[in-house]
Amino acid sequence: MPKHIYLFFGPPGSGKGTQSDRIGKDFKLPVISTGELLRHEETIKSALGKRVAKLIDQGKLVSDATIHELIKQRLSLKDTAKGFILDGYPRDAEQLKDLMSMLKKTDKIIAVEIKIPDKEVINRLSGRRVCDCGATYHIVYNPPKVAGRCDVCGKKLYIRHDDKPEIIKKRLVDYKLASGPLLKYAHQAHNLISIDGTASVEHIYEDLLKRLENQE
Ligand code: AMP
Repeated sequence: MPKHIYLFFGPPGSGKGTQSDRIGKDFKLPVISTGELLRHEETIKSALGKRVAKLIDQGKLVSDATIHELIKQRLSLKDTAKGFILDGYPRDAEQLKDLMSMLKKTDKIIAVEIKIPDKEVINRLSGRRVCDCGATYHIVYNPPKVAGRCDVCGKKLYIRHDDKPEIIKKRLVDYKLASGPLLKYAHQAHNLISIDGTASVEHIYEDLLKRLENQE
């Protein structure tokens, strides 16, 4: 059985984190989000975390060399042996090249693109609330049981600095610029699944699951 590697693409706020987590649980594969790895480094105040904190807050991309360091280390862990899901990586053509150099020819790559209009991105991200434990909420669409508190660990929720409107706009422009070649690559390799991200979380999940199972 080849190792399955799922790449989740979509603008910030498209719901790729939510969907990749659910698919990860179903397929018993780890979900690796470079954004989360970086935020974890920030939380534990590692040297790398201190180096990248300002860039993340400003919605700027972290250097490919730093991302390489993080991903290489994460992919060396045993839980990736049967495959894994990537969320937020690769972010550009250089990172795609780097990822390919870490994979084997027999590995099967399946890309998922979740599409949503810009207006919806801004609406969703401005209502997003997050917790340090990785849980994500939306004040209207997915509110926590107790306002401002995480359902999973009870900690106080907060607004990510890069979810401010002017930074969201910049992240959107960057996403469009960088993701073009990646999606083209996935399309040409006949392994791109495009999903309408404006449907309900449940609907997207069921549609996605069906289409991924068809790929097996
Ligand atoms: P995300 O959680 O995927 O929205 O990422 C949050 C922030 O982390 C981004 O705005 C970037 O500053 C940084 N980041 C995450 N993944 C990458 C990546 N693959 N390459 C460069 N920077 C990244």
